[in-house]
Amino acid sequence: MKLDKLNAVLTRVYESDMPDVNDLEALLELKNSEELAVLFDFADNVRQKFAGEGVFLRGLVEFSNFCRNSCLYCGLNKYNKGLERYCMSHSEILSCVGNIADCGIKTVVLQSGEDNRFGIEALASLVKDIKCRYDIAITLSVGEADRKDYQLLKEAGADRFLLKIETSQEQFYDRFHPEMSFENRIRCLSDLKKLGYQTGCGNLVGLKGQTTKILAEDILFFKRENFDMIGIGLFIPHKQTKLGSDLAGDLEMALKVLALTRIVTKTSHLPAATAIATKGGEDAVVRALKAGANVIMPNFTPAKYKELYEIYPGKKCIKESWQKSLELAQECVNSAGRYIDYSRGDSLKK
Ligand code: SAH
Repeated sequence: MKLDKLNAVLTRVYESDMPDVNDLEALLELKNSEELAVLFDFADNVRQKFAGEGVFLRGLVEFSNFCRNSCLYCGLNKYNKGLERYCMSHSEILSCVGNIADCGIKTVVLQSGEDNRFGIEALASLVKDIKCRYDIAITLSVGEADRKDYQLLKEAGADRFLLKIETSQEQFYDRFHPEMSFENRIRCLSDLKKLGYQTGCGNLVGLKGQTTKILAEDILFFKRENFDMIGIGLFIPHKQTKLGSDLAGDLEMALKVLALTRIVTKTSHLPAATAIATKGGEDAVVRALKAGANVIMPNFTPAKYKELYEIYPGKKCIKESWQKSLELAQECVNSAGRYIDYSRGDSLKK
């Protein structure tokens, strides 16, 4: 694309209330490095204008890998019989949250597979306990549940909830989620919003058969639903899953989706995802920070559990202590010419 045309398309996408899917597709097809630099710089400017220079940290605790679901790409899926399952105790989780709070981080993300092994009542009392002890926002990422369970957790004090749609196109969704229901996932996201959670969504880039049209539709879905945060993931094949021999997603494509999500949604919080770090190392995290991202999620799961939370292999954080994860986050933020913002980093949506 000629550079003046590229700038015109970018401006049109930026200014539109609901961009044209063809424009997004054309931008996702950009390949040469000069064009990509224009796209990423544009996203970087939008990030600066709407989300500022600060990078927020969210401390991640992966507290259980039990799962009743069968997402084809995920190593935690119930058919992976080779995986040793664990569920951390109330006090183990609290001690991780203590480490996060001691570092001055103001958000903990409690993530797990979907099995309810920990128990909803127990999770609610954990949330209450954390809220009593620490001045910290709680994001839950525990998958699909009934509205009444989401309500219980909200009333216990949870602030935010992360549930990725993975792909916004129902037929494509069904291909990767046998035994699950797209409709229910949409219902969950709608309940979470109605209950007053700051709601996060996201997708997976690089699934086999995914077209730029599908990715463009994902971005429009994020725009329509006005999510407070959006995680753009990158598919990494896991040998013990049905997709074990598929190709990994393309890092460049994930960065393009991230950049366009910034340009289109403007104020959503966008993490530099762990999968991006796994594929491309610190360099990729810095690239993400310069292409629209404003959040990093250092991992605080204890070492002995972290390696069992194997949604995909080679997870970047596995060999790092949480101290090291934090140090690397700081280095990436420095290289990107930014600073860590130690405030809560609540939703920027009005
Ligand atoms: N069970 C919870 C959270 C755990 S999975 C839930 O479903 O919300 C967290 C995220 O890991 C998923 O949303 C998915 O996008 C990502 N993931 C799973 N398998 C992956 C893979 N093979 N490559 C990259 N990301 C993956």
